[in-house]
Amino acid sequence: MWAVLTLWRLLVAVLGSVSGGHHSARSVQTEHLYPDRTQLSPVTLLRSGLLILGPANHAPIKQGCVLFNSTILRVGECLKLPKSGLPEPTNEFEVPVAMPGFWDVHTHYGGTYCSKLNVGTNSKFPSGYAPSKYVAFACAVQMLRETLCAGVTSVREMGGLYGQELHQLATSGLYPSPNFHYAGKFIGMTGGHTDEQYLPVTITRNDRDDMYEGVGALCDGVADCVRKTREQLRKRADVIKVMTSGGVLSAFDSPYDQQLSVEEVSAIVQEARRARRVVAAHAHGAPGIASAIASGVHTIEHGSCMNESLAISAKRARMVHVPTITICQTFNKSARPPEYDPLEWAKGVAILESNTNAVKVSIRVGLTIATGTDCPGNCAQVAQEAVSLHSLGMSELGAIESLTANGPLSLGALGMAPKSGRLAVGYDADIIGLSTSPLGNLSVLTDGGRISHIWKGGGLFKGPGRQVCDDAATNRPWEVEAFMPMPPEW
Ligand SMILES: [Zn+2]
Repeated sequence: MWAVLTLWRLLVAVLGSVSGGHHSARSVQTEHLYPDRTQLSPVTLLRSGLLILGPANHAPIKQGCVLFNSTILRVGECLKLPKSGLPEPTNEFEVPVAMPGFWDVHTHYGGTYCSKLNVGTNSKFPSGYAPSKYVAFACAVQMLRETLCAGVTSVREMGGLYGQELHQLATSGLYPSPNFHYAGKFIGMTGGHTDEQYLPVTITRNDRDDMYEGVGALCDGVADCVRKTREQLRKRADVIKVMTSGGVLSAFDSPYDQQLSVEEVSAIVQEARRARRVVAAHAHGAPGIASAIASGVHTIEHGSCMNESLAISAKRARMVHVPTITICQTFNKSARPPEYDPLEWAKGVAILESNTNAVKVSIRVGLTIATGTDCPGNCAQVAQEAVSLHSLGMSELGAIESLTANGPLSLGALGMAPKSGRLAVGYDADIIGLSTSPLGNLSVLTDGGRISHIWKGGGLFKGPGRQVCDDAATNRPWEVEAFMPMPPEW
């Protein structure tokens, strides 16, 4: 990790010097290169033909106004805003539609995808791995900006090597980034979904850090699992990620088998809870979902075999389902793409069918759903998750709620969730402006060309006079794993 920190210091040095020039040219001593939440943003008045508030049961407001600095000070019909007693805005904007910025609550910034370095076809490294973790870190940093420029103002990284460093970068104001919440390394058992099963186990246990640093924190037995939890808390992780079932893109294990025991996962949950953190469980098969519920886990990631009785239990426990439809849809193809081996492909195709059904079950039962992509390819696709939820039976405002207001629920109610994802007084001023209404056509939200304004913490990142998101790549429809209806034989 020292190497990553060295790269981080280098980045700070480079960006710091750019920032210094910027300061002296404008004679501003304290201005950051990018708006950031450590300073209070200027008071802004936003007028919008339509305000979509976030929660599904809050009707959109016509001719609405939002007054905000770093947080929202007032929201409602423009005509009803009090004439006095509010701070005078220094900026005014007008847009056809405004709504809260998006949340992607299941993503990864591993740097295996890189749009700016020329790394071969599809911007993916041919081997699936960056040549070194320095290159991977640089790619992950680029991805932060691209994610923010897609209107995603908050992310929850569900496992990665660079969470702590990316979080520091995100809060520094030195680089444009969504609000960055992270899990650190994902915790799982030896031979399970976190284990690189083709490598020697001494390497995947990170016993030989100098050779290879795996993103998995392997643990076996209660004491070991508690220690691995504390190691993530030591890195100031906002949430703990465990694997309670096998996975699709791991070599030998089955997504239908339970991984880790209830005793192990309960110990992880208790340890996390003492630090006010909740636990997220990767769980495809029913036994893995059931053991996560029994262990006191807070969010079910994928939940591909969610059935009615599991969904009812999860709802009763006020849990959140993050179905990650987007990554499952990568298997909605008639032929196996070369990047998957035959076993991965067979597992993925089977999981796709269950996952689609699971989403319908959770919608029917009313289990809270939050949007997460699992970041296949680039990490800017989360609005597509809302489009897919709507295709599977959720109302449009319900899908928007999953994309916005439900995001912070994924961090639990123990003190780690920010006030975010809603246009409401006291909430973070994470707001996007759109040229077209998404009501009637949610795919508007997947088109960077129609997202005209992006504020995070009241700071403007996209809009008149801001160049952060000016490149062509962030101003067109995102390359999404489009939701396709299931072929009849499935
Ligand atoms: Zn994931």
